[in-house]
Amino acid sequence: PARPLYADQLPKCLQSISNIVAVSSCKGGVGKSTVAVNLAYTLAGMGARVGIFDADVYGPSLPTMVSPENRLLEMNPETKTIIPTEYLGVKLVSFGFAGQGRAIMRGPMVSGVINQLLTTSEWGELDYLIIDMPPGTGDIQLTLCQVVPLTAAVIVTTPQKLAFIDVAKGVRMFSKLKVPCISVVENMCYFDADGKRHYPFGEGSGSQVVQQFGIPHLFDLPIRPSLSASGDSGTPDVVSDPLGDVSKIFQDLGVCV
Ligand code: ADP
Repeated sequence: PARPLYADQLPKCLQSISNIVAVSSCKGGVGKSTVAVNLAYTLAGMGARVGIFDADVYGPSLPTMVSPENRLLEMNPETKTIIPTEYLGVKLVSFGFAGQGRAIMRGPMVSGVINQLLTTSEWGELDYLIIDMPPGTGDIQLTLCQVVPLTAAVIVTTPQKLAFIDVAKGVRMFSKLKVPCISVVENMCYFDADGKRHYPFGEGSGSQVVQQFGIPHLFDLPIRPSLSASGDSGTPDVVSDPLGDVSKIFQDLGVCV
């Protein structure tokens, strides 16, 4: 259900969003942005009104993964609000569309930029805003989670052993903030070749997290060249539902799209 926790204090631009979902990981390179973008486009393919907020100021992925015709955010001169760009009906906001090079900023400045981009963008009425979080569980992430009332978090990891410890950190951060972790996506888990399923990084860290923390869903996502290719070419693959039956992630939210 929609969770406008403190609706009267909520920035106007966020007031008509039913669900704000954080896609998070503790390390870079595990496929967090790939999952965030494909989740968003899968939901849009199911008929939902969706936006993606790329919260990574240091290494924004959205401009690589999605290629809208208009690659610059515009400012509404009267209201001083930001007009998101759009690709296939999904609203997009990223520092990478702000027309500046990679920034050198200290933490508090980064938080300020992220909060401004998030809370002054004209999202309009959305069923889902997917936030592609910066990797990690530091101050920037905490501040971001406190600025918006998150409905739920999805944690992305890879099966390597170390990743388990990191995921546990992420789950703890969200549970402290009273945000339910509804799913762990174990990415690049396996590939099929020669009639066999191969697990190049071993098995089991995802299910360990799910059991230990009582997270309702675990998705194993294979290494899939088409996912990588669609990400590199800026054209998310909306038709084939590359994440599988992604709607399962959201059934617990009681939201129908
Ligand atoms: P992160 O956001 O965690 O830094 P990305 O989503 O940018 O990670 O993914 C890192 C790289 O791995 C990208 O080139 C992406 O296309 C590739 N990748 C991610 N998941 C998969 C997958 N399941 N199969 C193939 N390539 C993948």
